[in-house]
Amino acid sequence: MKVTLWGVRGSVPVPGPATVRYGGNTPCIEVVGASGEYIILDVGTGAHALGRDLLSRPPLPSPIHLFISHTHWDHIQGFPFFAPCYVPGVTVHVRGPVHFHQHRQLRDVFDQQMQFEFFPISNSQLAATITYESLAETSLSVGSLTVTTQFMNHSVQCLGYRICEQNRTMVYTGDHEPYYNVFVDGADPLDDPLVGDAGAMVDRATERFLSFLSGADLVIIDCQYTPTEYPVKKRTWGHSSWDYCLTWMQQAAVRCMVLTHHDPLRSDDALDAMTQDIHRAAAERGIDPDMVLIAREGMELSL
Ligand SMILES: [Zn+2]
Ligand SMILES: [Zn+2]
Repeated sequence: MKVTLWGVRGSVPVPGPATVRYGGNTPCIEVVGASGEYIILDVGTGAHALGRDLLSRPPLPSPIHLFISHTHWDHIQGFPFFAPCYVPGVTVHVRGPVHFHQHRQLRDVFDQQMQFEFFPISNSQLAATITYESLAETSLSVGSLTVTTQFMNHSVQCLGYRICEQNRTMVYTGDHEPYYNVFVDGADPLDDPLVGDAGAMVDRATERFLSFLSGADLVIIDCQYTPTEYPVKKRTWGHSSWDYCLTWMQQAAVRCMVLTHHDPLRSDDALDAMTQDIHRAAAERGIDPDMVLIAREGMELSL
C-alpha cells in the first residue's frame, strides 16, 4: 500500500503564510494497493489538489473507492471540486456511515451540499457514474484489500477504517475523542451504580477501539489538541489530544502513528513546537520518536 496525505487540517481550511509547511487543506488521504486498487479516505478540501493531480497522470483510476469517515463539512467539502467526478467513464463508489434519520442517507447529504444555493452544479449532473452506500460496522473487499469499519466517538456517526493488504495494515480514525464517563468525571463508581455502569461501558468501548488499532503498521489518527487544551475546554468537541494518542499507540502495539486533523489555529511554528513536546514525551514512554509523525500535506508512506 502507498499512502499519500492531501489534507491534514481539521475543521476549516486555513491557507496562508502560517500554514505553508504543514498545509491548510482539510482531510483527504489517498491509498493505492499493490494491484492498483484505488481508495480515498475523506474528501476534504485536499481532494481538489488530488483530483487535479490525477488528471495530470492519466489514465484515471476507476473505480475510485471513496470512504467517508463522517459527513462533517471538513470531510466532504472537496467532493464538488474533485475533478474525476466530471469525467465520463469514471466510476466513483462513495461509502460512509449511516445516519440516525432513516429518511436521510449518505447520498442525501452529498446532494444537499450541491444544491443550487450552495453550488452551481447538482450532484445528478456529474458526468462520472457515482454510487452511494451507507455503511455501518462491516467488512468488505476492494480487490485484494480488506476494509473493516468501526464506529468512533464523535458528535455524528463517524467510521474509522482498517485496511489490510496481506500482512500489512493501516487504520484511519477520522474524528475521534477518547471515551469518557458523561455522567460524572472522576466520581467513585461504587457510590452510584449508574455511574459505575457507565465507567465499565467506557472501559469496554476503549478496549474495542484498541482492538481496532491493534498491531497496525500505520495509524493515522485525529490529534487536534494538546494535553493542556483538551481537558480544559475542548472535551465533548469530538477530538483527541496527543497524550491519548501515545497511550493508545503503546496499548495497541501500533508500529507507526501519524497525528493529523491539526487545529486550524495551530501555525507551522506551533506544530514544530508541539512536535518537540510529543517526541520528548514519546522517548520518556519508551516509544521511538521516529515512529510518531506529524502529518503534513504531501507526506508519502509505504507499507
Ligand atoms: Zn473533522
Ligand atoms: Zn467531525
